[in-house]
Amino acid sequence: MRRPSKERISEIVEEGRVKLHRFLPSGREIWTVVGSRGDQLVIESQPYCTCRHFHFAVLGGRDKTCYHLSALKKAKESSKFVRIDMDDAEYGRFLSLLSSDVPPDLF
Ligand SMILES: [Zn+2]
Repeated sequence: MRRPSKERISEIVEEGRVKLHRFLPSGREIWTVVGSRGDQLVIESQPYCTCRHFHFAVLGGRDKTCYHLSALKKAKESSKFVRIDMDDAEYGRFLSLLSSDVPPDLF
């Protein structure tokens, strides 16, 4: 698997593919990064990402991070992300659309 370059990560940020979904009125926040395989759910504080690379390489101890997490970090540093306000009622469906294998105890 080709390792994405710094330029590739900048590109993701510049193109507005890092998104903060804010659920109201609770204020819960979910970050997603649109990568080459579609939307990935990214949790920086864990850290956690729904992509295959994270599951196999990072959790398997062969890599420290994936490019979604790197892009999220960069987007936060430069305040370059898209903020989307959503309703709390959409929360459950939104999560299940993103990934069916996110451990439920993460939320
Ligand atoms: Zn990832």
